[in-house]
Order: sequence, then structure tokens, then C-alpha cells
Amino acid sequence: MSLPKLSFEFFPTRTPEGRAKQVITRKQLSQYAPDFFSCTSGAGGSTREGTMQTIQDILSEGIAAAPHLPCIGMQPQEVVDLLNEYKALGIRHIVALRGDIPSGMGAGMDGLFYANELVSLIKNEFGDHFHIEVAAYPEFHPQARSAEDDLNNFVRKVKAGADSAITQYFYNTDAYFRFVDDVQGRGVDIPIIPGIMPIASFSKLTRFSDTCGAEIPRWLRLKLQSYADDTAAIKSLALDVVTEMCERLLREGAPGLHFYTLNQAGLVSTICQRLGY
Ligand code: FAD
Repeated sequence: MSLPKLSFEFFPTRTPEGRAKQVITRKQLSQYAPDFFSCTSGAGGSTREGTMQTIQDILSEGIAAAPHLPCIGMQPQEVVDLLNEYKALGIRHIVALRGDIPSGMGAGMDGLFYANELVSLIKNEFGDHFHIEVAAYPEFHPQARSAEDDLNNFVRKVKAGADSAITQYFYNTDAYFRFVDDVQGRGVDIPIIPGIMPIASFSKLTRFSDTCGAEIPRWLRLKLQSYADDTAAIKSLALDVVTEMCERLLREGAPGLHFYTLNQAGLVSTICQRLGY
């Protein structure tokens, strides 16, 4: 029996040392036979060269690569030019996003805005060439006007042509299944892959989670907090919690797992091994 889909996300590195280290990290993770490696990209084009470099590195390692493409503020022609570059490299898979509004931009900004506009543009210009992945938020997007509105906006980008979705990370498994039920009830039938964030540091996790709207359940937060600087204890509890969450997700029908690696192989490897990959 084949194992559920697996993918790993990286961010572009800034230095030659970082790039060399990332090659080793990807080599470690490639032993789990991922379907693809993805690479994030800063909104407003802030990491465009680094993303392109990382994507080329991944391709040269013989693994399918999926660049993230945050469209906010981009002109349609800029997007088409970038996608043509990716197409020429042999890319067939794009993570299509709005991105976060860079500070100093905002009111009066022209160009593309919402992810559904980007999905429509990719479909219109490239047909079925690219597999289009979009973002999903089981605990809702932090700027959503309401939960209902956010669900409807998700459906809108699926109807525009998305082929599958990756979720924001979460630790409330029920929120994922509820989200899947809700959007399926609205006619969505694409795979929705849970995004999994291993926990290495409690302070970093709380900082991240505050911005992206992911909830750390009270029991977990208090327990992790009580370990203070005992990183070994934090990692051990977190590995158990995240592995059990992945087991339940797969047991109850999630079509795969997408790991936010933060460019580190250690915790993700341990979880994949425990899951039998
Ligand atoms: P959208 O789907 O456009 O939604 C954004 C907000 O607008 C939501 O509140 C939604 O309800 C509302 N909305 C959507 N469509 C409409 C509409 N037509 N009319 C009115 N309201 C609407 N960010 C990066 O900068 N670079 C990355 O590489 C990156 N990778 C990511 C990968 C994953 C898997 C995930 C989950 C997120 C990633 N992000 C990345 C973060 C993401 O860009 C932010 O969360 C961003 O704020 C929203 O992007 P989105 O594509 O979900 O936006």
C-alpha cells in the first residue's frame, strides 16, 4: 500500500553556507520519498532570487519543486513572466498565495490582491500546465471578516481552479476535520493537506502563532511553558503531541502531510520515522 502524500517546505537562505546546509537537510529528508519540496517567497518580490536559486537546487537534486508565489502588488504581466521562467525550468506545481502586505504598501496599491485573482490568472494563461496549490485556514485567516466569509473565500479560489490546498499549521485536529467538512458541504472536493509545524522552541512558536492566527491549545501552552528553558523536555513532549496528531489525521482520512521544516531535518525526520515513512 502506498503511503499518503508527503511534502516539505523550505525558505530561501541568504548565504552560501546556508545554501550548502540546506542541500544536506534536503538530502536527509529525501529518504522519505517526498512528492515535492516547496520553497517560500517573500511578498513584494523580496526573496525572488533566493527562491529561484532554491528551486533550481531542488530540481538539480532530481526532486519535484513547487515555488510559492505571493501575488500581492504584482502586475499580471510580471506574474506571467515569472511563471514562464518556471515553466522553462520544467516546473509543474505552484503554491499560489496572496502574501502579506509589506509595510509601507497597502492603501492605493495596484496589481493583484487576493489569491483567487492569481489562481484565475494562472488558469487563463497556462491552462492545466501547473498544479495549483492554495492556502487553507482551519482556524480561519487572521484578517477574515468572519468564519463564514473566510470559508466562502476559500471556496472562491477553489472554483477559480485550485487543484489542492495546504493548511496553515494547527494543533487542534478537530478544526481541520471541521474545515474539511464545511468546505465539502459547499461543493469542494480537492485534497486538503494538513500543514504540520514541529515544535523546537516555545517562544518562537508563540511569536509565529500570534501573527498567523494558529492557536496553541491551553493545556499544551501551559505544559510547554512549565518546562521553561528545558529544551529537551519541550522537544520530547512536542514530538509526541505532533506525531500523535499526524497519526490521527492520517487515520481519519487526511490525504497527506506537508511539513514546515524551517530548514531543519531533525524533528521532521523523527516524526516521519515514527509515522512509518
Ligand atoms: P487569500 O486567499 O487571498 O485570503 C486572504 C484574506 O482575504 C482572507 O481573510 C480571506 O478571507 C480574504 N479574501 C480572500 N479572497 C477575497 C475576496 N475575493 N474578496 C474579499 N476578501 C477575500 N506568505 C508569503 O508571503 N510567502 C509564502 O511563501 C507563503 N507561503 C505560505 C504557505 C502556506 C501553506 C500558507 C498556509 C501560507 C503561506 N503564506 C506565505 C502566508 C499567506 O500569504 C498569508 O497567510 C496571507 O495573509 C494570505 O494568503 P492567502 O493566499 O491565503 O490569501
